[in-house]
Amino acid sequence: MDSFYYRQGKLCCEELPLDKLADSVGTPCYVYSKGGLLGSYNELDSAFAGLDHMICFSVKSNSSLALLKLLGERGAGMDIVSSGELYRSLRAGVPAGSIVYSGVGKTDSDIRYALESGILCFNAESLPELEALDRVAGSLGKVAPVSLRINPDVASNTHEYTSTGRKETKFGIPFTAALDCYREIRSYRNLRVFGIDMHIGSQITELEPIVLATERLAELFLRLSEEGIRLEAVDIGGGLGIRYHDETPPSPAEYAKALVPVLKPLGCRLIIEPGRYISGQAGALLTRVIYFKETGVKNFAVVDAGMNDLIRPSLYNSYHRVLPVSEDNKGRAVSMDVVGPICESGDWLAKDRLLPPPEPGDLMAVLSAGAYGFTMSSNYNSRPRGAEVLVDGTGYRVIRRAETLEDLVRGEEL
Ligand SMILES: *Cc1c(COP(=O)(O)O)cnc(C)c1O
Repeated sequence: MDSFYYRQGKLCCEELPLDKLADSVGTPCYVYSKGGLLGSYNELDSAFAGLDHMICFSVKSNSSLALLKLLGERGAGMDIVSSGELYRSLRAGVPAGSIVYSGVGKTDSDIRYALESGILCFNAESLPELEALDRVAGSLGKVAPVSLRINPDVASNTHEYTSTGRKETKFGIPFTAALDCYREIRSYRNLRVFGIDMHIGSQITELEPIVLATERLAELFLRLSEEGIRLEAVDIGGGLGIRYHDETPPSPAEYAKALVPVLKPLGCRLIIEPGRYISGQAGALLTRVIYFKETGVKNFAVVDAGMNDLIRPSLYNSYHRVLPVSEDNKGRAVSMDVVGPICESGDWLAKDRLLPPPEPGDLMAVLSAGAYGFTMSSNYNSRPRGAEVLVDGTGYRVIRRAETLEDLVRGEEL
């Protein structure tokens, strides 16, 4: 389902023309489609209808309270990686019992907060983490439910920074050490074995690595049952890719069709941790052209959104489609880079795009920016961040107001 499309020459989010929106909330701003968000959530949910499953939305992809609340109301759980994300999830009304806690570096205070909240389980990634979980749980008189995140040593053919399933990465417990590690959990008084977990990477566009890694997990699951260690859940992580440019990622139906035969025989609950698939296409970054600069060597559309607003191009060399909000400009398209105002050559949003030469004040939309967009933003160059807006049909709501200059210095002392 496309949430952003042209109607009468104007780019709209759902039924709302983006030029109207920009005039009232200002730019840059993030625009999210409620229909798009819930549509992709529902697609995944129905794809796995044949299995007892739980969708734990990856909060790091988009942690807006309003979005977490919408998903939570539909029955989504959350996959968190910090106390901050736990706080956000609880503030959004998500029950602690549907929250799983991932990440390689949980501190004692993170563990305490999560235990006191009563989360569903910890996805533990190392022996020292198990010791910490046992110690903190003991001090609170609680038992920590634990899944082990296994590193299945499978390459996921994505960007090096988002590939997490090879044995050289910092993530997970080596596949070969997993059995011993489960045996060891039984010697801890304050730990309870809950499940088995993996997450091999992000923006994965092929099924093979996911299926291969899931088969490895299933193999371990069965070995463990032979030893009398019964797991309640298998968590296959997130990572399902989306189309930014010309990728052809599997659909949720294809994803489920490939995995259900591996998972169904295990007879336990499935957990998935999708982020990008749910939030990515539901969001766009709306920005206004400040100048059109022609140097003789290259053309630059200098816009009011920069790498502090959307860092994916600078960080991962990512491609995001950029569209003019108005199709009125009939000028002959020329090649240009779309760049921000920040003092770094890496501050670009798009390179070598064919677009009609813009006038100052023209609007552009950077698509597929709902995941790892606002959550990775910063105030670099002391730039206040713009608003976040949730569109529903012809209406919209500001779900995070734009930052002010005063916000930039909040908490500081002279
Ligand atoms: C980032 C992450 C996810 C979500 O990845 P997507 O590619 O956005 O689906 C899920 N689980 C873990 C442990 C993660 O670190």
